[in-house]
Amino acid sequence: MKIERIDTLVCHARMRNWIFVKVVTDQPDLVGWGEATLEWHTRGVLASIEDLSELLIGEDPRRIEHLWQKMWRQHFWHGSGIVRSTAIAGIDLALWDIAGKRLGVPCHQLWGGRVRDTIRLYCHLGGGEMEAFYGTDVTQANRFAELACRAVDEGFTAFKAMAVPPTLPVEGLRPVRAAERCVEAMRRAVGDEIDIMVDCHARPSPAMGMKFARALDPYGLFFLEEPCWPEQVADLAGIRQAVSTPIATGERLTHLAPFRDLFAVGGCDVCQLDLTHCGGISEARRIAALADAHRIALAPHNPQGPISTAAAIEFGFSQPGFVICETVHADVPWRADVVSEGYRVEPTTRLVHPNPRPGLGVEVREDEIRKHPFQPEVHQFVDYPDGSVGDW
Ligand SMILES: [Mg+2]
Repeated sequence: MKIERIDTLVCHARMRNWIFVKVVTDQPDLVGWGEATLEWHTRGVLASIEDLSELLIGEDPRRIEHLWQKMWRQHFWHGSGIVRSTAIAGIDLALWDIAGKRLGVPCHQLWGGRVRDTIRLYCHLGGGEMEAFYGTDVTQANRFAELACRAVDEGFTAFKAMAVPPTLPVEGLRPVRAAERCVEAMRRAVGDEIDIMVDCHARPSPAMGMKFARALDPYGLFFLEEPCWPEQVADLAGIRQAVSTPIATGERLTHLAPFRDLFAVGGCDVCQLDLTHCGGISEARRIAALADAHRIALAPHNPQGPISTAAAIEFGFSQPGFVICETVHADVPWRADVVSEGYRVEPTTRLVHPNPRPGLGVEVREDEIRKHPFQPEVHQFVDYPDGSVGDW
């Protein structure tokens, strides 16, 4: 069995260009689908996949780990940069899809079988509609509450809000009080039965992250995400020590070693590895084993396209430490047109039932993808009031 070629298909979905990766074998109808979406880096990832293809054409797709090692180690540079790690991930997902299809089983059965019956999903405020999630200003606490109620009406028992504004490295009480008012309004609107998460988007300095974490601690957040830059692992650990709220991070880490460093200092309670950025399922399984040794929960980062979601769900059915999966369902109205998934979501509870189809269980409609060709993503900027550049 040989890999004949690796194709990429780009599907413009407003905030992101979804990159579908198709690994074609020399066996009749045996192809694997992966995803390598990386917003604002689409052309770089496509070129990186083309570079990696030279290592893989003619190779046996059944040797997934061997091929992963080739992609990671060869060409001198390790595959740790975000563009290369995303390209590796897209191909790795497709190879696992092939493995499942070849053996006629869903991927989670390749990894020891199902460890749970259902997976819980959480949404963004607005369901993935870019303006609602990223554009709702923290001065509009009532709007946060309205959007929170809409998420609950749509069946979600957990949702995430960007209720922390961009701040300079040191600011006073104003942004902290604004964040507190938003979280208080959401908590009052949905009650204690619903889980609320707040994503700081790694905007705050460690000092500001500490202030936000302490101010929001009384509201019983399910987790507080990226309260400061992910490189500041000692500061993440300090914030984690200072509050009872679980601290989540990991979406920007691209391979095993930085997760090792993060876990070693006690930098998080929740590991948000991204299967399409961390080198794929092969590397994610190593990261998950390490997280398990530290009793750290898994809640993958997944605001991307449908194959990323299918992979996160297959992974979740095989991982004991998996607690919840991020999902967007209303980013573009035609999301369901481009694929048909094997897993089933209960609309009233947003619980996911396992995929019975082989591989990742996704059927891709290439003609539908072609209706949405590449366009540059909408730019998102943060400029501080003094004109300096902030973290978006
Ligand atoms: Mg995030």
